Amino acid sequence: MALLEVSDLRVHYATSRGPVRAVDGVSFALDPGERLGLMGESGSGKSTAALALMRLIRPPGHIDSGRVYLDGEDLMTLSEQRLREARLAQIALISQGAMNSLHPVMRIGDQVHDGVRHHGVRMSRSEWQHRLNGLLARVGLRPEVASAYPHHLSGGMKQRVCIAIAISLEPKVIIADEPTSALDVVVQRTVMETLRRVQEDIDAAVILIGHDMGLMAQFADRVAVMYAGRLLEEGPVRDLFQRPGHPYTQLLVASLPTLSGKAQFRGAPGFPPSLLDLPPGCVFHPRCPHVMDICRRELPPAVPISERHWAACFLLRAPEVRQ
Ligand code: SF4
Repeated sequence: MALLEVSDLRVHYATSRGPVRAVDGVSFALDPGERLGLMGESGSGKSTAALALMRLIRPPGHIDSGRVYLDGEDLMTLSEQRLREARLAQIALISQGAMNSLHPVMRIGDQVHDGVRHHGVRMSRSEWQHRLNGLLARVGLRPEVASAYPHHLSGGMKQRVCIAIAISLEPKVIIADEPTSALDVVVQRTVMETLRRVQEDIDAAVILIGHDMGLMAQFADRVAVMYAGRLLEEGPVRDLFQRPGHPYTQLLVASLPTLSGKAQFRGAPGFPPSLLDLPPGCVFHPRCPHVMDICRRELPPAVPISERHWAACFLLRAPEVRQ
């Protein structure tokens, strides 16, 4: 049974020019201990989806609909009190730029303690010290880091502190939104290794949000591709990279550099649509090299490709139903 089940999640932002449909009917499931990559260009709605899962959308944003079952409990209908308990303890978010939101004049140990204390976990000073040292060790930091301030630490160390905070109550789901942005490639690797290690240690499932396909390929078990607020394709990582079914995913995969480096670089032509004025039918049709008449009129259904691999594209249907 799935640990997390998201169905028909919709979020809009009210603007003077009309509603911006940032997340438009997103559904997916996550198994215990699984690593799901949620991949898409910036503005595709992936970070909004992450905030919506935690019910952290603030006005002018609004969650229009959706069910988010975590272990059988719908986060969308929980009381505020129960939701506050569930955040961090059951589902934790390492938000984009989290390392820059550490309190500048608060010691690291106190910042880690904050979340634990707010969840009513009480322990003696020596018990906490022991627990804190254990948490820091799990993310590869020395005990002395507890008495440091954020400005004493490098970007990679601060990001590992954020991971320590996220796992402080051993949640079942960790959402990591671009956890390596603004870090150099060597540090990126260390941070991702840390995330993988702690995830395995506490047997949590992870939703990794990002646009770096290389990172996704190395980290995720399964990848979901998001575009203009919708999921276009989802599948096991190897399957999706070897046999992408959706033309958008095919273009993304074709844009990856090869080891020989001789293939000509190909990106997706054009730009993503404005979320204020989405095209009818398939949202990708204005950029699609295979567009057909039906694509301009109708929403493509999710078509199965193989086990747990599907893509929303008319090309995957039999020719007679593409008219
Ligand atoms: Fe292209 Fe049509 Fe498939 Fe959309 S449904 S990706 S426009 S072929």
